[in-house]
Amino acid sequence: MVETSLQQHINQQLFEKLELAYFCVDQSMQIIDASENLENYGYTGVVVGANADDCVDFMFGLDAYTELDLPMVESPSGKKVSVSLLPRDSFLTVLISSASAEADQRQLLQQKANENELLVEQQIKLMKQLENASEMLEQKNVQLEEASRLQTSFLSGVSHEFRTPLTSIIGYTNLVKQALQSAGDDGSESDKVQHIGAVQRSSKHLLSLVENLLDHGKLDSDEIIVRPKETDLAELFNDVELLLKPLSDGKHIDFIVELGFEQPMIVVTDDSRLRQCLINLLGNAIKFTDSGSVRLTAKLSDDFLKVGVFDTGPGISQENLAKIKLPFWQAADTGKAGTGLGLTITERIVELMGGELEISSELGCGTQVSFEIPAPQLDAEPKPVESQMLPFKQAKILLAEDDYDIADLIVMMLSERGYEVSHVDNGELALNALENQEFDFVLMDIHMPIMTGYDVLRELQVKGIKTPVAIMSASAVESDRAKAEQLGCFDYLIKPVEIDDVIRIMNLAIDQRA
Ligand code: ADP
Repeated sequence: MVETSLQQHINQQLFEKLELAYFCVDQSMQIIDASENLENYGYTGVVVGANADDCVDFMFGLDAYTELDLPMVESPSGKKVSVSLLPRDSFLTVLISSASAEADQRQLLQQKANENELLVEQQIKLMKQLENASEMLEQKNVQLEEASRLQTSFLSGVSHEFRTPLTSIIGYTNLVKQALQSAGDDGSESDKVQHIGAVQRSSKHLLSLVENLLDHGKLDSDEIIVRPKETDLAELFNDVELLLKPLSDGKHIDFIVELGFEQPMIVVTDDSRLRQCLINLLGNAIKFTDSGSVRLTAKLSDDFLKVGVFDTGPGISQENLAKIKLPFWQAADTGKAGTGLGLTITERIVELMGGELEISSELGCGTQVSFEIPAPQLDAEPKPVESQMLPFKQAKILLAEDDYDIADLIVMMLSERGYEVSHVDNGELALNALENQEFDFVLMDIHMPIMTGYDVLRELQVKGIKTPVAIMSASAVESDRAKAEQLGCFDYLIKPVEIDDVIRIMNLAIDQRA
């Protein structure tokens, strides 16, 4: 009894909780029982005696034996209901329960799906924007790289173009100076000698600026090459002193050179690179110092060369010291001319020579720059061939050069030393001459009309003509040298060429052929 009423209670609770309604039909689909709460779902006509086919739309066409679950049916009151058809022996029970929670859940899910779709769409849009932005960045990068490549090749091109006329200026002023010196032994021409000396110094200074510009173009491409060779350090430092002393004299400041070695001091180093570093550092020290002194110290110990450049100039602030080695950087307030490249290039060269450039300075306390590089010492005796007295070897020389100023100068200098020189002004004529006449040595430019120096070298190889050729080019680009060497040139000289270098190389070539 208790159990029955408990059962009834539970059933009652369940019915209420699930909002369960029901009706039963007999085999002729007539309603034989119906719960009162069917009205809650709008099934008002579902009463005992009525036909289910007529008053319940989802029952239309079904029979009393159908077992079926309809999960989501809209009731006449607009509520979502789930319907279960449960056939028994002689009747069919139809259970109707609320599906609104499920419907809400579905709606929520649908909403979430829609939101997700929106998010995905937005994400795709953002990705597209990102892609566009990165494409634009890439394009800008390419443009920037191109601009920087153009700048570099422009600088290389310009400095290359500068070398050729500078070769003439330096060579001809040398000739004029020598002529004046021998004509005016009585001192009558001393003014002119001084003037021409000034032109020479300026052109050499210009050449060192051009060299820095050219080297800047090579900074990124590993083109700066250091070629150590036998070098008289004492001679090199004396040369640098002679070159820069007039600049310090002009500013009435002392130029003190303290060398810890005497001439000759033969070591292995790249003399022209070391010279370039010293000119850059001393050039700065003299340029920025208006009173006091510039001191250059150099000493050798354990096969290392230690160099110091000290000045009593304005000094450099700590803030500026951090930026000083950046390319093209210059302090804003110095009012001095410059390219802002000297220190960048000097630092790189010193690094390539195995050292490190150190700068210390304080505003108002001058500047100290130093570096230490390997410089293995050789026998103290300098080689006689390094002196001015180069042995004369009878030789017939072919000069191929399209710049008449340079050609005249070289012909003049070689003829003065007793050599027989024929000049041609293009590659084709050079090749013809070499095919038809005997020469001991060829001095040849690269960039010539009709056939370049490279073309001639190539043809000589094909034709088996073995006359030694020294290339003389304004291009200090390593790949140009490598190309010429690959094509069999005997040596590669960079303009402006020193006539002693030409003779030394020619003697070597003649000795090797003998
Ligand atoms: P440049 O001398 O051609 O301007 P550098 O790279 O050699 O280029 O030097 C960069 C800058 O560093 C100079 O413009 C100058 O502001 C500063 N600087 C270099 N050396 C000195 C020095 N000895 N004293 C004072 N300032 C210096």
